This record gives sequence, C-alpha cells and structure tokens, in this order.
Amino acid sequence: MRKRKELNACLERMKLDAILVSDPYNVRYLSGFGGGEGYLLVTRQEGVLLVDFRYTARAKDEVAESMDSAESVAKVIEVKGKYEDFLRDYLEGKGIGRMGFEGNHVRYAQYVAFRDGLPQVELVPVGDELTRLRRVKTQEELSCMKRAAWIGDQTFEEVLPFLRVGRTEREVAGQIEYLLKRNGAEGTSFDVIVASGLNSAKPHAEPTCKKIEDGEFVTLDFGCRYGGYCSDMTRTVVMGKANDRQRAVYRTVREAQERALAAIRAGMKGKDVDKVARDYIKESGYWKEFGHGLGHGVGLEIHEEPRLSPLEEEEILSGMVETVEPGVYIDGFGGVRIEDMVAVTETGCVNFTHSDKDLMEL
Ligand code: ZN
Ligand code: ZN
Repeated sequence: MRKRKELNACLERMKLDAILVSDPYNVRYLSGFGGGEGYLLVTRQEGVLLVDFRYTARAKDEVAESMDSAESVAKVIEVKGKYEDFLRDYLEGKGIGRMGFEGNHVRYAQYVAFRDGLPQVELVPVGDELTRLRRVKTQEELSCMKRAAWIGDQTFEEVLPFLRVGRTEREVAGQIEYLLKRNGAEGTSFDVIVASGLNSAKPHAEPTCKKIEDGEFVTLDFGCRYGGYCSDMTRTVVMGKANDRQRAVYRTVREAQERALAAIRAGMKGKDVDKVARDYIKESGYWKEFGHGLGHGVGLEIHEEPRLSPLEEEEILSGMVETVEPGVYIDGFGGVRIEDMVAVTETGCVNFTHSDKDLMEL
C-alpha cells in the first residue's frame, strides 16, 4: 500500500486503530484499485481491500500492479453480504476499537448502518486527512498527467478542422470525446464544454444543439484521464474574423494568464497567485466579469485542493498540479477563457499544456 508512513502518522495523530477509506479516489490512490466501489480498511499493520464479487478479479489485478515493493500491499477480500456484518467480526478479531471514517464522503444511511452494525467500535470522522495526502504528486503521477495533457493538446489540434460554422456545439463536443479516446484516453475527466456565441459568457455551459455561427467566440474546455489521472485545458477561438472588442477581451485574458503563469511558484498562497491575474483583469476594466477562481488542483479528481482563488490561504508546494484559467464573461456578448495545467516547482512551473494561445480565427 502506498503512503504507509503518512497513513501511520495520521493514525497516530488521531489515536485511531484503523481507518475505513470509502472515497473511491482515496481507495484508488492508496491501493491502486479503480473500480469505484468497496472499502479499504487501513490498520497500522496492513491494508485490506473489501469488494464484492463483481470486483474481485479486477481488484486483485490492480492491487498487484500498483504494488510498491518498499511498502506493504493491500490484500483483497471478497465480502459476501453486508459490509457491516463482515467488519463486526473482522474488527473484533483484530482488536480494533477506534476506527476513522471519511465523514465528508460516507452517506448518512451508510453511517447509520455502520453505527448500528458495529456497536463495539467508536467511529471517528477523519475529515479530509486522506485527501490531503494526494496534493503533492510523485514523478509517476506527474508523468500520467503530462500524458493526459498531451492527449488534450493533440485532440485540440485535430478537432480544429471539424470546428465549422453550422455544426452544433454537441457535435463538436462528441468529436472531442471521440478524439480523446482515439488518442489514448481512458475517458473524459469531466463533461466536455463547447460554448459558442452568447453561451460562451457562461463559464460552465453545457453543449447545446445550437449551431455555431460566423463571428462567434467558441470556448472549448475539456480534459481526459490517463492512468487514472486527469487533464484539463481550455482554448477560445473566433469563427471567421474577430472584431475589435473580441480581440481586446482575448488580449486581456491572455495577458492575465501569462502574468499568473510567470508568477506561480512553490511557497505562494493560492490567493496570491489568483491576485496577479485578477488585478490585471481589474486594471483592464473588467471586474465582475471574472467571477470564478483562477484555478484548481488536479489529480485523480478533476477538482482538487488547493485552489487558486481569493479565499485560498493555503500555500502551494512543489509537485502540486494546478490549472491557471482566467476568464472574462460579458453577458449578452460572449466570453473568453484560457486554461493551462501546470506542475508547480520551487522556481516556477512546468506547463503541461502546449496548444497555441494566439487568437485563432477559423
Ligand atoms: Zn477546464
Ligand atoms: Zn479547470
């Protein structure tokens, strides 16, 4: 099992005999199992992955594959019947009296089943302790994310000839999904966003059956998963010839992004990176038009901590992966967002996204 030392420190700190990990991303991170269902029970000596019949074979394969020779490995147990019934005997056999659980993740009904089914065990919520272990990435994780970003770049280049006046947003989104998979992705990391014309003023627009028209902004925001790890990128293009106002808005967003990319490095607080881009956008006459944070962490999940936002007090560290994605959204006109995904280093960052950022007129 990975991160044995950190896990033991966590058990020690919270005076726990065990933690029952249920967040599927944490289960995957710690054991290698990506099936999405089941529990990882972590004690001070071992990790036991509890799954039902549907996942036994997969779990055994994936746990063996992610085996880290220096650390102990999770054992797979197929549970028949209810998890609480299995746990009652198992925990008693191991003498476990105080068990942590992921209070931010377990559903209330499941909590009640554990509480009532395990009367001899004290259940202690562990908050986001385990999720925090995932913030700083290893070289291996970084190389998966680099590959996922490369698939994104490749897909962007290949979708440009398909992006034509008269196609619907949904058709283009479908083509992006297809290309991501053809280029080696396991899947998308979130629902592809294709937003044209007035829709581009909505930061999280869903692709519609609206046809793309001449003179419109089109924002493409998408990413994929590779080795379980996500990528995330955004480019905004103009169909036909850009007008002066479109150029000005684009220039503002691009410059804001360049400034933030030049500033970001380990030791800065998330809010200070955000401020670099936000101040420039304000100086350029936009303020309420940039209503979201500058970026977010990425990893096994598409949105991770820490964020780059006005409220983020946390320091970013070398090995964290963050997006840098300023935007300006003008109601009744349209919007621009440009997003790259970078790995933070002591002296700056390594940008994993390489697609061109000069304003494209298609
Ligand atoms: Zn994005
Ligand atoms: Zn993003």
